[in-house]
Amino acid sequence: MKILLIKHYTLCFLLLLSAIAKQANAIFYDEPKVIYIQPLGNVDKSDINIVKASVEQFYHYRCIIKPQINFTNDILADSKTRYEANRILSKYNTSENLLILTDKDIACANPERHSTEWGIFGLGYRPGTTCVISTFRLKRKATAQLFNSRLTKVCLHEIGHNLGLNHCTSGDKRCLMNDANGTIKEVDQEQIFLCGKCRKAIGT
Ligand SMILES: [Zn+2]
Ligand SMILES: [Zn+2]
Repeated sequence: MKILLIKHYTLCFLLLLSAIAKQANAIFYDEPKVIYIQPLGNVDKSDINIVKASVEQFYHYRCIIKPQINFTNDILADSKTRYEANRILSKYNTSENLLILTDKDIACANPERHSTEWGIFGLGYRPGTTCVISTFRLKRKATAQLFNSRLTKVCLHEIGHNLGLNHCTSGDKRCLMNDANGTIKEVDQEQIFLCGKCRKAIGT
């Protein structure tokens, strides 16, 4: 009985210690928010690592890479030649921060261009938790360095939408929240940079 009691007290003491440690952690160390990177189909490990490093550095998220998932016919676009970004988002949307990465071409409707299947680099809910990025158009005629910079900017842009940012209206072409409107030239003009107006809008 005595031994049991001692054991019981020891256990209580240990639980108390761990509760204090947890509280101290919450007070003194601001735990970074987590974003999951979800490879859709076969994605180069080096591309996943570019995304991980950029997102961790720029937004200070902690990135966790999920095991690859495979394409299914329900997310194909109507032409069946590529995938529909809105269908991908609605299929995988949850309350977790999720960045879906694929090397297949993605598209969505663009009424301004009178197109039902406009090829895009990425799409993200605004505000929301889910975005999808395709490396397909970013790799075209690009050196490794140029591709790296494009992929970084597009990922940071879509997460910017998730955080509630609209397209940039400051007129600063360097801001990565400019509307690329599907043209790579616009992306190449941007820098890995948010203008003052966009930074203020997300409170950084
Ligand atoms: Zn801006
Ligand atoms: Zn956008």
